Order: sequence, then structure tokens, then C-alpha cells
Amino acid sequence: MDRYAVIGHPIGHSKSPLIHTLFARATGQALEYSAIEAPLDGFAATLDAFRAAGGRGVNVTLPFKLEACAYADEVSERARIAGAANALIFDGARCRADNFDGVGLVRDLTVNLGQPLAGQRVLLLGAGGAARGALQPLLQAGPACLVVANRDATKADDLVRTLAALGLGHGVLSACGYPVLAQHAPFDLIINATAASLHAEPLPLPPQVFGPHTLAYDMVYGKGLTPFLRQAQAAGVTRLADGLGMLVEQAAETFAWWRGVRPDTRPVIAQLSVPLT
Ligand code: NDP
Repeated sequence: MDRYAVIGHPIGHSKSPLIHTLFARATGQALEYSAIEAPLDGFAATLDAFRAAGGRGVNVTLPFKLEACAYADEVSERARIAGAANALIFDGARCRADNFDGVGLVRDLTVNLGQPLAGQRVLLLGAGGAARGALQPLLQAGPACLVVANRDATKADDLVRTLAALGLGHGVLSACGYPVLAQHAPFDLIINATAASLHAEPLPLPPQVFGPHTLAYDMVYGKGLTPFLRQAQAAGVTRLADGLGMLVEQAAETFAWWRGVRPDTRPVIAQLSVPLT
């Protein structure tokens, strides 16, 4: 049976084995998908051992997404722009890397949540790996403006400069810190790509950023109403979503890349959803 895995540290929390097993069952694909915890200094050695044992591909999660790019022989343009890969495929002696986080996000927003992106005012909170992976696919969808705000505003600036150097985001993409966000308000879509919700911490957001029709989207999943979603709710927002759909959609993109068949994501999202209460 073809073998796949997700590699991270820690890895016990990962929903990827369940998601890919459900996909394999639904599409009639014969494969085995496991979770592997690599030592912090042993990502490449763990991958080498998995390949030697017949592994066909892996998903990569924290903290190895940067190392995954360095390991691969070929890196897709979007993974290069993100500076991180979340999926590898082993093609004989060669290894190819891609990053499906951003396309998974865009698909969840546009297909599952019915949120248009073209011509919309979008605020992306955070400048870490998840934000980097989201930027190019969001820009490709044609928003009117895309503001990146980060606690450390210099990181948001650096990110925007990196994309500008690649000829991306001109006249659309800008960066700022939280204190000046009110000047850009309100937004049609606010995406929380920070790790604040993981630590149950609120963000210093002025209430003006939220409008009556804003979609507030937290990339964190499985935590119910996060402090960010509560802030949005307190400002009158009724359209709230967590990142489960993004997780399942990026998994479906990876599955299609590996197996040539795209699974239906709706039943898996329905099975794994946690109510936002
Ligand atoms: P990183 O560690 O790379 O980045 C963390 C970011 O969060 C930085 O911008 C950091 O700001 C910011 N941050 C952390 N704590 C706070 C706080 N208390 N207040 C304000 N900003 C804060 O993490 P990732 O980018 O990899 O992940 C971010 C989130 O996205 C995680 O919660 C992760 O679970 C989620 N995620 C979800 C996915 C999905 O499929 N749904 C996929 C990938 C990630 P600063 O630079 O100032 O320190």
C-alpha cells in the first residue's frame, strides 16, 4: 500500500491522518497515512528514513515548513514566495515541494463560505508562516486592498517589500501596525493569521475595523469562539468562521497532487466541525 505521513513536532494533535483516511475511503484510493514526530534536529533524517521505507509523500507542519523547502530538489513558485512548504512528493530520486495553505484558505473563503475576494477590502493579521503562505493566493484573487498588520510592524513591512520585489501587490498591498488600523477601516474580510488565539489572547483591534457585513475568519480551528471571534461578535459581526475548512481544503489539494483525484471536502468538514459557541 502507498504510504504517506504528516511530519511535525509535536504531532499528536494533527487531524491530517483522519482527514486523509476519510479522503482515501471516499475516493477508493488504497493508501496508508500516519503521523510522525521528528526530533527538532532530525527532520531530514526522518524524511530519508520514510523515503527509504517506501514513503510516497508527506505533509509538513510546524516547525519544519522552512526546512521542507530546503530539503526539496524542486520548489513551486508559491512555496518559494511563502518561504515554506507544507507538502512534499517523492518522485523517484527527486523530491518536489509545494504549499497548499493559501489555496486552501482561498477555496474555503470563496467556495465554502461564499465570500468574494475580487474588489474586496481585506485585512490580514500576522506576518508569520501562515500569513506568508496566504498572501500570494489572496492577491491572485484580486482584492481592492490587502492590508497586512502585525504586532511587530517591521515584519509586516518586510513581507510587503519581499512581495513588491517579486512584482506582486503594487497598489493593493500595504503594511501597518495595529495602532494605525482605524485609518484603513472598515474591511469586508478580516483574517486572523496570528498565533494569538492559540494562547487565548485578544488582539489590539480598533472596533472600527469591523463593518456590519464583515467576515471574521480565524485560521485557528477546533477552539470554538476564539478571543478574536468574540471581539468581532462584540462589534456586531455575525459572519464568523474558523480555519477547519482551510485545513481540509489544503489537505484535498495535497491529496489531488499526490493521487490525481480531488476528494469532496464537504462531508469531512461537516464531520470535524466544532460549533462556534
Ligand atoms: P508563526 O509562529 O509563524 O507566526 C505567529 C504570528 O502571530 C506572528 O505574526 C506573531 O506576531 C503573531 N502573534 C503571536 N502571538 C500574538 C499576540 N498575542 N498578539 C498579536 N500577534 C501575535 O505561526 P504561523 O504563522 O505558522 O501560524 C499562525 C496561526 O495560523 C496558528 O494559530 C496556526 O494554528 C494557524 N494555522 C492554521 C492553518 C489551517 O490550515 N487552518 C494552517 C497554518 C497555520 P509577531 O511577529 O509580532 O511576534
